Amino acid sequence: MASNGFPPIFDGHNDTILSLTGKGFNPLPGGRSFFEETDNGHIDLPRAKRGGLGGGFFAVFIRPPEQEPDENDDAENAIDRTTRQFNPSGGWPEPMAMDYAQSKALELTGRLIRIADESNGACKVVHSAAEVEQCMKDGTFAILLHFEGTDQLDPDGFALDVFHKAGVQSVGLTHFRKNRYAEGVPMTFPSSPDTGEGLTEEGKELVRQCNARNILVDVSHITEKGFWDVANVTDAPIVATHSNAWEVANAPRNLTDKQLDAIKESRGIVGLNFHVGFLRNDGQVDTNTPLSVMADHLDYMVERMGIDCVALGSDYDGAIVPDDVSDSSKLPNLMKALQDRGYDNEALEKIANRNWVRVLRETWGS
Ligand SMILES: [Zn+2]
Repeated sequence: MASNGFPPIFDGHNDTILSLTGKGFNPLPGGRSFFEETDNGHIDLPRAKRGGLGGGFFAVFIRPPEQEPDENDDAENAIDRTTRQFNPSGGWPEPMAMDYAQSKALELTGRLIRIADESNGACKVVHSAAEVEQCMKDGTFAILLHFEGTDQLDPDGFALDVFHKAGVQSVGLTHFRKNRYAEGVPMTFPSSPDTGEGLTEEGKELVRQCNARNILVDVSHITEKGFWDVANVTDAPIVATHSNAWEVANAPRNLTDKQLDAIKESRGIVGLNFHVGFLRNDGQVDTNTPLSVMADHLDYMVERMGIDCVALGSDYDGAIVPDDVSDSSKLPNLMKALQDRGYDNEALEKIANRNWVRVLRETWGS
């Protein structure tokens, strides 16, 4: 139990490392420290501790150079620009240059490793499900290194080998864009997730490379065709780290019933995404969104897949979230709302961390 009486939360997705550089979705000149509390962004260690957030997937997310934030961006400006880039009128831009993506991936992966190294033991980069489990018990903050996008990976798998040895054990195939491996859905509403092409042959090969190394493959963001390509190729549980139920909110980033069924069949998992545009059934980016809407998505997915296949994938520091969970210190509000909905302690534990631990163990083998 965390000090707030709820089980500690292991979270399926955040964009905190980019936010710490000051060039994330809440621009901040000079950036901020993970160890000091500010009111910028959603996650730092003090707020995480207060909210019972015990760790999670930390995304290495790389913007192409033309999408780097403007020096004078305020938050609203950044959101506006970002939304346009995630749904470009003239189709997806060209994939990023690999050398550019690799230099950024090195920087952000290095920054994450450095957080653990400079934490005096308060944080740890996790390499096994057993380590995640231990962190949830002893309160060490668990950092799982995750790629959101694969522009930095060469098709021969050399970069994958190097980053894997550096601790990257989870790979999301693309973001709101197209790369040599996969195509993402755009940020439109309403829309089916069947918005474009599936995986390329190199994309299918990348899934096999991940399988061979016990690296988790994340299907959040990819088109429905891409999802089925992953499902056909992979030998691991199907994981959507930060996605919701399409029947509850018709955003293409969400998962249809058929997709949820395939995830259940594979003993996979879906992490509930807090982005209001994926939660609300009107698609509005309005932070005045009640916690009951989040509970509705979880209820729906639990009914469809069972209690073992759902978890949280907040998208903190990369999304616009409901006021009642406006940063990681507010997570107990969500746990309380789920408790009020009838989730007992065991169910809350599974949603908070045990389901992630199970899927990581089945995927990583330890
Ligand atoms: Zn994302």
